[in-house]
Amino acid sequence: MILFLDFDGVLHPEGEDHILNGGADFCFLPRLEALLREFPHVKIVISSSWREQLLYQSLLKPFSSDIRARILGATPHSGFGLPPPYRKREGEILAWLQLHDAVDEPWVALDDAYWQFDHCKDHLVVCSSFVGFDDKACAELRARFEGASR
Ligand SMILES: [Mg+2]
Repeated sequence: MILFLDFDGVLHPEGEDHILNGGADFCFLPRLEALLREFPHVKIVISSSWREQLLYQSLLKPFSSDIRARILGATPHSGFGLPPPYRKREGEILAWLQLHDAVDEPWVALDDAYWQFDHCKDHLVVCSSFVGFDDKACAELRARFEGASR
């Protein structure tokens, strides 16, 4: 099981400029990491647009070391994703799966940008942008993880 992980609107509410003010907030990361620890078979790929602006090592910094060890990489930059009719983010995710010979791997995307998913909407656990990874999203993600481990 692979979790494609967005940052803004997921690990913290959207709306503040987290990069420019230098303050990585990540207030919901502990909640996500606690869930991930219950499902050690789940690997992580970063799909956030932060990957286009920060070095890979900087992207990994907010994560605890045990969770960081489970991060496989980041999706390819825009332009290397699948072309339309796929939406940008789902195209980048599918491109990652193809590049890593993992098209048959179960996956879920945790993202607030529901409009970035069309063909793969059934893989999406959506967060509300101005709320982030709340109890509801956490319960839904847990159900996906449980479904994949059956
Ligand atoms: Mg987002």
